[in-house]
Amino acid sequence: MRKSFSQLAWLIGAVGVVLGLVNMLTPSASVGNTFYFIAATQLAICVVIGFFAHRPDPRTWMVILGVALFTVAGQTLADTSLPDETLRIVSESFFLVVQILLASALLLVTLRRNGTAILNSLGDALVVALGAWLLIWIGLLQPSLNIAGEPAVISALRGITLATSTIVLFLLVSLLFSEANRTPSIWLLFGAISLSLLGDFLFALDKSGHASVSDRFLNAPYVISLFLASATFLHPSVRSLTHRSTTRQRQPLLGRLVLTTTALVVPLITIALFDPRNQVDRVIRAISLFVLAASVTARVIQAVRTNARTQAVLVKTAQTDALTLLPNRSLMLKHIEEAVDNAWRTGRVPAVHFIDVDRFKNINDSLGHSAGDDVLVAVAQRLTNAVPLSAIVGRISGDEFVVLEPDSVSDIEAMKTAERILECFREPLALRQGDVFVSASIGVACSPATDSPSPEELLRHADAAMYRAKDAGRNCIALFDASMLERATQRLTLETALYRALERQELTLVYQPIIDLQLGDVLGFEALMRWEREDGSTSSPAQFIPIAEETGIIVPIGAWALIEALTHLRNWIDAGICPETASMSVNVSPRQLHDPQFVSVVSEALSRTRVQPQQLWLEMTESIMITEPEQALAALRRLNTLGVRIAIDDFGTGYSSLSLLQSFPIQRLKIDRSFISGIADDVSARSLVKTILAMSDALGLDTVAEGVETARQLEALIDLHCAKAQGYLISHPVAPEQMRNTVISLEKFSQWPKYSD
Ligand code: C2E
Ligand code: MG
Ligand code: MG
Repeated sequence: MRKSFSQLAWLIGAVGVVLGLVNMLTPSASVGNTFYFIAATQLAICVVIGFFAHRPDPRTWMVILGVALFTVAGQTLADTSLPDETLRIVSESFFLVVQILLASALLLVTLRRNGTAILNSLGDALVVALGAWLLIWIGLLQPSLNIAGEPAVISALRGITLATSTIVLFLLVSLLFSEANRTPSIWLLFGAISLSLLGDFLFALDKSGHASVSDRFLNAPYVISLFLASATFLHPSVRSLTHRSTTRQRQPLLGRLVLTTTALVVPLITIALFDPRNQVDRVIRAISLFVLAASVTARVIQAVRTNARTQAVLVKTAQTDALTLLPNRSLMLKHIEEAVDNAWRTGRVPAVHFIDVDRFKNINDSLGHSAGDDVLVAVAQRLTNAVPLSAIVGRISGDEFVVLEPDSVSDIEAMKTAERILECFREPLALRQGDVFVSASIGVACSPATDSPSPEELLRHADAAMYRAKDAGRNCIALFDASMLERATQRLTLETALYRALERQELTLVYQPIIDLQLGDVLGFEALMRWEREDGSTSSPAQFIPIAEETGIIVPIGAWALIEALTHLRNWIDAGICPETASMSVNVSPRQLHDPQFVSVVSEALSRTRVQPQQLWLEMTESIMITEPEQALAALRRLNTLGVRIAIDDFGTGYSSLSLLQSFPIQRLKIDRSFISGIADDVSARSLVKTILAMSDALGLDTVAEGVETARQLEALIDLHCAKAQGYLISHPVAPEQMRNTVISLEKFSQWPKYSD
């Protein structure tokens, strides 16, 4: 429907143009009159159709009515010789009223569409209108004042009308120059009014006696104008004519410049070429020129000011953190640079505190991002209140804040401030969601007077110290020393190398058998990752898994491990190395579990290796039940539905509660090595394991004891009726090629004196 109206509008516009051209080519006056009649009639019809089809608001009506009356009036004047003086006065006055009506309607539309943003285009439009006014005065108005025998009232009326038409022109230009988007209706409207204005000027030119314009040329612009007015009203975009418009991306700067310059230059040339005719002419020219010059100056001043203001806003936005309104990284670096530069003169030791909110990701994930934002705003407030007045607080990224103390005099003083910062988090933050406790890890770096580091270096030092504070268990302070940089560099090298490890095939899996303590049979294996680098150095999972988790590389690495481990299990089963029912345990980190693709990765790996889901155990630590429990729960349920089982690894070292254990879909507990190591000699360790076993039994869970290293530990576990175990005593983790021999050597456990009764 909209499309049909749009096509109809353009069609009518085109018909108007064709009729106008035909009119210009035909000398017969009756053809012109017929065309005009058709144009006026179709306008009336289109106005009615457009109103019912688009139901535009009253302001749009006013514009259309203005355009229509304006055009009709213009035509009436142009067409009739009107011998009667009173009639001419009436018609001139009517024309003036119509102009005023049109000007007010245009003003309303322009203001509605642009709001205060219109101010920018008003200046340019004023210059154009004044230029046009000067031309009108010199070319039309001034000469027409001298028409012999014309009553003064009519001359005056015509003068005012022409002056008003410059206002219409002014508004029209400002509508076009404005920053609001130009819709087809705006263009059509612009065409209709400009053609009508053109008709008026041709008429005035003819009247002034400067040139004789034939009737067909006087009529044609009005015919086209009436058709364009109809098209304006028929086009669906007429509905948004008076709506606040979206700002155009590309400002038509060049077009504006050309038009305003022309409006300035052409009148000046005209003034230079044609001498004033009398004193009144001279005065009017002088005043007009003065106003034109004043508006150009005002426009230039306004443009320069707007530009400066925009610049200032841009600079401020570029240097301010939008959430907390604190200085951002780039501004903080500037402040640090200034402080370091001044330090040698004042004998100060500027200190930079790098503050990282502990476990901020948990807050974001568990309470939602808006709560996360609230925490950041509250932290910013706390920090600002906690530090000395001369200190500057900034937020440099995510949950990282920086406090610069430009006037600190020593490490000791800086550490005192750091303590105050740490202290300010003791009280919970009152959020809309309730009270939240946060802590922070703080790294402090001071700029020694002897050698002033660059601001980036100083920030990096504080960052390295902050990492040390994190490693030391979070919620504490660390003061920078050079050894920390080494560690940070090492970490960075490790991170970069880890990215390539997978494609360079530097990662391998080794397998540790898990045996049945009653029968001594191999029940399954746990896959453990190893990383041997190009240069022959090896890193333990304890070193690289946390980095892989932080950087997210654990997701592809974990997917690879899953396929690799299941492929080996399939091969061993096929080769008769282990029983058909043997299981594979694969360690999974929380990050993997929260990956939306994880469940499909698991099911894909199972189907590719033709391993039954019941043969796969996924080992996770208790932490998954604490951070983002809902998300974890959903993923675990889906894994369970597949048939895959879940084991809680290192059980006893986390903080999981009994209720969590009960509510999570888990099937196995792996008792942490730390409990097993004391089991043979330490009564309390033994009773702890006994309790865990009883609890696990009560919950209907399977249990595996980890890290069995001695025969006495093994005996104690058998005494406590622990069903399964793994550990160095049974077998170290071995490479897949050694599995056949390893499994054979494990047969000794079935002959173990204790079980072979
Ligand atoms: P985990 O899953 O609890 O694995 C058991 C760890 O204890 C392994 O260390 C294993 O070599 C070691 N171990 C086994 N028996 C004994 C024993 O009798 N005495 C002692 N002292 N240690 C024993 P590893 O291979 O260094 O792995 C450390 C941790 O790294 C694993 O703990 C697991 O949390 C993680 N990890 C290893 N491979 C992967 C993996 O592929 N993915 C993920 N996400 N984590 C992995
Ligand atoms: Mg494990
Ligand atoms: Mg473990």
